[in-house]
Formats: sequence, C-alpha cells, structure tokens
Amino acid sequence: MDENDALIELLEDVLGDHGLHYPNRGQISFNCPVCDDERNKHNLEVNYFNNVYKCWSCSDSEGTHGSLGKLFDKYGNKKNKKLYNILKPETVQVKEKKLPKLRLPDGYKKFSEVSQVYPVRRQAMNYLKNRGITDEMVEKYQIGFCDTGDHNGRIIIPSYNKKNELNYYISRSWDPNSRYKYKNPIAPKDEIIFWENIIDWSKDIYLVEGVFDGLFLSNSIPMLGKHMSQVLFETIYNNAKGEIVICLDADAWSNASKLYHELNGGSLYGRIKIIKLMDDKDVCDLKGQIDDFYFKMRG
Ligand SMILES: [Zn+2]
Repeated sequence: MDENDALIELLEDVLGDHGLHYPNRGQISFNCPVCDDERNKHNLEVNYFNNVYKCWSCSDSEGTHGSLGKLFDKYGNKKNKKLYNILKPETVQVKEKKLPKLRLPDGYKKFSEVSQVYPVRRQAMNYLKNRGITDEMVEKYQIGFCDTGDHNGRIIIPSYNKKNELNYYISRSWDPNSRYKYKNPIAPKDEIIFWENIIDWSKDIYLVEGVFDGLFLSNSIPMLGKHMSQVLFETIYNNAKGEIVICLDADAWSNASKLYHELNGGSLYGRIKIIKLMDDKDVCDLKGQIDDFYFKMRG
C-alpha cells in the first residue's frame, strides 16, 4: 500500500466510497456531504496532489471547497484529522530536517576494550549486574562507560538511526550519591527514534518509557518519557507490520491507555496491546513471562 492509498482510505472513512479516480493527476471524486442525493452523485472532487477539494454543485452556495485540512475539520473526527496530518506531503519534509551531528562523550569506552581487573570497569559492571543487565545486552546495545571527562562515572547507552549515525545516548551515573542521575545530550529527543538501526519493523514492537526498560524486551523502542513524539507516531504508523505492545511503568496507566486509543486506528487498528504492570513490578520482571501480563483493552 502506498501513501496515496492510505489517504484515499482515510477520505473514504469520512466521505464514503469514491467515484472516478485519476491516480496520475491525484484527482478523485466522492459524494458531497452537503448536497448528495439520488440524482447528485460524486459531485465532490478531491485533488490530493494539491491537497484541495471542491463540490461542483454547491461550492458557491455552501462554501464546500478549500484545503483538505478544512475538509477533515468540518466532516471528519479528531482521529481522521490527526491521521491526515501524518499522511499529507508537508509532514514528510519535516522528517527530513537535518539535526546537528552528535558525538559520544569524551572518555567513552566499550567494556570489551578494557581489562576486566580495571577497578572503574568493575564498578560500572557491578552497577549493571545489580540491575539485571547481562553480558549479552552489554554487547548487543554497545553499552559502555566513562572514566574521564564530563561524564566520568557514568554508564553510556548509545542509540543510532537507520543510517547508523549516533542520534542520542543515555548517560546514567552509577554513584548513588551523584547529584544528577542522568546527563543526556541536548539533542532534541522528540525528533529521534531510539535504537532505530536495530528495530525489526516486521516483528512485534514493545513501547517502553526508559532505555533501561527497553534492554529487557527484545525489539523495544524507548520513548524517553511517558509521551509519544509525533515522529515516533508517524514512523510506527508507516512501518510497523506486527503488533505494538505498550508497556509503561505502573504509575503511568492513564498515559498507556491514552496512547492505546491514539494508536488504535487506521492501519494499526486491532494490533495494539497493553501490558499492565502491578505497582511493585518493573519491566525487567517481565522477562520470560510476558504472556501472563497482557491486558485486554476494550472500547
Ligand atoms: Zn455539494
């Protein structure tokens, strides 16, 4: 399905089945929501290359013409409008915006590059082991640490975009007395997809709040908070082929449920699940028994 098919499907949700369609001109007709009757069929013409609509019969008297955004405002619901904003061409250009180049902090080292008896490495590794993080996770996610510079005493978890360029990193102090637990880059985190280079869009995807949660669920995307960015929403909407499992912290049930309803529409309809965590449970407690935690959402 290409982008225009998705837009046509959305238009049909709002206006009903389409009439004549000229794909090479982006021209397609529908019944007019204002003047349609037995003798007046498919008077409303939409041009989705130019993002405009017009009823040939009543546009002068009823004002049934203008931008497609206006059409969705007038005749669609909020979900239709949101989806339209995703599908219309302008949003594609926003996604292409160049971000300043990010570097890993000075002093970043991979665990594999440093002798196992080096005391700082042992401190860092102890912290990870206490959180249940395995050697395999350290290797897979290129987790490292800093023993010098601004980020001295911190675990570093990098993230790369689909071109394998660094797009963010998490920097977590292992010292319980540290003033700031996290010291993350100033890069705009709502414009990146964490671990984008290793996401398998053909498989089920787990949405989690934090990067440390994500380590425990394979094929997860940390949202770096309780809210989903527009970029992540669009990327999931356009790419995800399997199910989307929302797995936020126990204190974020209302966020999780809101997210469920935002995602459960259009081509994602029926593919969203939620995992409800009990108050004393953490994402890392899920390992190996995920099926017991699924919560069936209704409505
Ligand atoms: Zn009309």
